[in-house]
Formats: sequence, C-alpha cells, structure tokens
Amino acid sequence: MEILNYINGEWIKPDVTEYFDVINPATGGVIAKTPLCGKDIVDAAAKAANDAFPAWRQTPVNDRVQYLFKLRGLLRENGDAIAHLITDECGKTFEEAKAEMVRAYENVEVACGMPMMMKGELVEDIAPGIDELMIRQPLGVCATIAPFNFPGMIPFWYLPYALAAGNTYIIKPSEKVPMTMQFVMKLIEQVGFPKGVVNLVNGAKEAVDGILQHPAIRAVTFVGSTKVAKYIYATAAAHGKRVQAQGGAKNPVIVLPDADMEMATKIVADSAFGCAGQRCLAVSFAVTVAEARNTFTELICGAASSRVIGYGLDAGVQMGPVINAASKARVEQLIGLGVQEGAALPVDGRGAMIKGYEGGYFVKPTILADVPRGSEISKTEIFGPVLSLMHVNTVDEAIDLINSGQYGNQASLFTSSGSAARKFRYEAEAGNIGINIGVAAPMAFFPFSGWKDSFFGDMHGQGMDAVEFFTQKKVVVERWPKEWTRKF
Ligand code: NAD
Repeated sequence: MEILNYINGEWIKPDVTEYFDVINPATGGVIAKTPLCGKDIVDAAAKAANDAFPAWRQTPVNDRVQYLFKLRGLLRENGDAIAHLITDECGKTFEEAKAEMVRAYENVEVACGMPMMMKGELVEDIAPGIDELMIRQPLGVCATIAPFNFPGMIPFWYLPYALAAGNTYIIKPSEKVPMTMQFVMKLIEQVGFPKGVVNLVNGAKEAVDGILQHPAIRAVTFVGSTKVAKYIYATAAAHGKRVQAQGGAKNPVIVLPDADMEMATKIVADSAFGCAGQRCLAVSFAVTVAEARNTFTELICGAASSRVIGYGLDAGVQMGPVINAASKARVEQLIGLGVQEGAALPVDGRGAMIKGYEGGYFVKPTILADVPRGSEISKTEIFGPVLSLMHVNTVDEAIDLINSGQYGNQASLFTSSGSAARKFRYEAEAGNIGINIGVAAPMAFFPFSGWKDSFFGDMHGQGMDAVEFFTQKKVVVERWPKEWTRKF
C-alpha cells in the first residue's frame, strides 16, 4: 500500500527522501513505507484545517453529526477489511483487531449525541432582568498523535468528538502502522466532509514537533509511552495548547484466596497475553495473597504454556507477534534481567520459532515468579507477553505494593468478597479499576482514565470528558430592556 497524506480533501504524495519501513511482524517482511514528513506538511494540513474551520463551525451541530452517522455505517461495513490491515501491520489476531474496531464504532455513536452533549446552561434573573449563560464553542484546529498498538481505535477516542463539536482535525498515526488510517481516511473521504475538515499527516518526530509548535493548532491529544507523553505535555503546553497525553503502564492484578481461581486464571491470562501484552491495560504483574499463591501459580503457568501463537489471520491462533525485532529483543532482554534479579522462570517464552513464520517477531507467553519487590523488572513496562508473579500475606500489603508503583493506568482485583472489593476500589491508585475484570477498558460513554505517570492532563478522551476537551466555555451575562429592569 502506498502511504500518502490527505490534506484539504486531496491525496498528496509527499516530497520526502526518508521513509520508515512498515513491517508485518508475523513475517518480518516490509509491507509499506511511511514517508517521514516534516513541518512543511504539517503547515499545509494546519492551513487547510484552519481555513475549513469557520464554515464547519457554522454548520449546525445536528448537520455535523450526520457525517458521523455515515462514517459509522462505512466503518462497520468495512470492519473486516480494517481488521485485516490491523493484523498485518500490528500483529494482533484478527479477532482482537475486530474487537478493537468495536470501540471505535462506539465512540462515533456516542459522539453522534453531540447536540445533547454540548448544550450550555442558562440561569435567568441572576439579578432582576439579568440572565447568565454558558455556551460551549469549538476550539479550532485539533490534532491527535497516535501509538502503534491500537491503530484503528485510538484516533476515535478523539476524532468524532472533535468534529461533532465543530473543530477541524489532523491525525498523525504511528509511523509503524500507517496503513489502517490510510484506509480509514478513504472512508472519511467517502463520507464527504468539506475539504480540510479532516487531514492525515504521516511521519515521526519531526511531524510531531511541527504539530506541537504550530500556532494554528489549538489542542493536541497524544497516546504513547510515558517518556514521549511527558515531552508532548510540556512542549504543547509551552506553545499555549490544550493538551492531554496518555502514557505507559505497569498494571497490577491482586488475586485473593476467595477468588474463583478458574475464572481469574482465564481472565488474567487473556489480559496479560492478549494482543501479545502490547495493550496499555494489559495486566503485567499479579500479586497473590496468602493461600491464593499455589493454585493461581499452577493454573496461570498452564494457561501460559497452552496458548496458541502464530500469524493472527490463521485459524485458531490466540496470540500474535510483538511489533518488531527491537521489541522482541527488548522483551527477551528484560526476561533475562528478571532472572538475574532473582525471579524464577517457570514458563520461558524466549527464542520462539513459529513454523512457516521463521522471520516473525514472536515471544511466547512467559511467567516470571517470585519477582523481588523493588527490582527493575517489577517496575519497568515490558509491553510484551510477560506476567510477573509476586506474593504477599494480606490485602493491605497487596494494595500498598501496587500503590508504590510509578504508573496508574489500571488495577484489578479478583475476589468474591464485597468488602475487599470496596476497599480496593476505594484505595487503589489507578484511573481504571477492574473487579473480577482483566481489561477494564471504559466504554465510549465513560472517560478513558489514567493516573500518575500514565496520564498527563486534566480532561481525558471519550464521553463527556472529550466534549469538555474539544470545547471552550464562554460565559455571558446579559441585560435587555424591559425598562432596563431596576434602572441598571
Ligand atoms: P511511542 O511513544 O513510541 O510513540 C507514540 C507516538 O509518538 C508515535 O506517533 C510516534 O511517532 C511519536 N513519537 C515517538 N517518539 C517521539 C519523540 N521522541 N518525539 C516526538 N514524537 C515521538 O509509543 P508506541 O511505542 O507507539 O506505543 C506504545 C506505548 O503507548 C506503550 O508505552 C503503551 O503503554 C502506551 N499506550 C498507552 C495507552 C493509554 O491509554 N495510556 C494506550 C495505548 C498505548
């Protein structure tokens, strides 16, 4: 697939000399090349979006959402084709890719409620004859910088809300996975948005810096690693932009002795090894409490060893590869580090070789047990199919352990005790909480939360938070003659 930019309603072949190889991680073969565009292309996209803004803003909100209804239909009709591309460039299984797109559709559906969601407020007679009202207005040009691991879903945490609220838009997908948005943009083109309302720019750091510094771009959303999230947050804010930046994670699960162990094992295994562990809500370490240790360890090792690994489009495959050679090498190196730091390795997924896919970047599910508290491996985001096991004697110790971490994206608990669940919900320091749930991914009508080093900003993506983020409030106090009421 040729990767082009989409600016002002036109497909533009970028005039660049540098390209980034897009690799099918199951085969190691190059399937496309991402043009590494620079500031000039961002300037063109920002100009198009800025020029399109006045007319789009004046388009009534109930007309704006008609475009989204049409987009929702096209996305659903083309769901399998999109999922196919996601599997090929990102590595997850076809079923996982289809599930990813469901959340994209849901966000479009929720944003179709914008006529209701962006309503303002009015209070009459704050003084005799004087009324006060609050109006939500769009910001202007907004942009999203996306990561590699959910190429179809993550732009939709933002795009439908931004557009429905009357903003114009620029998307910069990850250079590792540009094909999905290339295809989605063709659907956006079919929808027939006015020229310049939605624009696509491909590239890496230079394009990102162009976005962060551009004076016409009013708001930026970012999803990716914590190191880059901090940079985005600081740089965008320094350039006067509204910004939200979602970062990395190291998600814990606590397993209590009264949990349904069979259910807990299945769900934790799906969370840790689904999408090859490359999910910001993947469970990354499990803390067993008291006598939960032996049963859970035995069951989870069995679940890890029996997972079927391969190319995500092949029938029966439960887990695909990690994204590239560097990621495979890093994950395997971190497994080795865990062992050096004193962890046991009851299930070792290193050196995986899948017949027919010898060039692929596969790491099989791995379990590190008895991981020492404070060790590097207990703190670092691995972003691969590796589950660390730790053990404590009480719920309090377990909560203390998980709250000592740097990240706060998600924390889960498996139990049959209501009071333990309530205590956990109350005390756990994470923005997304799962109780007997392994991937507590918020529905589109809830904010996708995140705390500590997993999120930088105030308002989140999805739902009403996205409405808040993509609108600015204007407060008006007004008086009209009815004898000017009480004479001023
Ligand atoms: P990444 O930070 O490497 O890249 C994300 C985006 O930033 C890409 O578009 C990339 O082009 C750009 N980028 C990379 N380096 C940059 C730099 N130095 N300066 C400016 N821009 C730069 O992240 P990734 O590897 O694509 O994605 C995986 C990470 O994303 C993991 O840490 C994962 O936890 C996180 N993630 C978080 C969430 C969440 O909701 N919190 C969701 C998905 C992924």
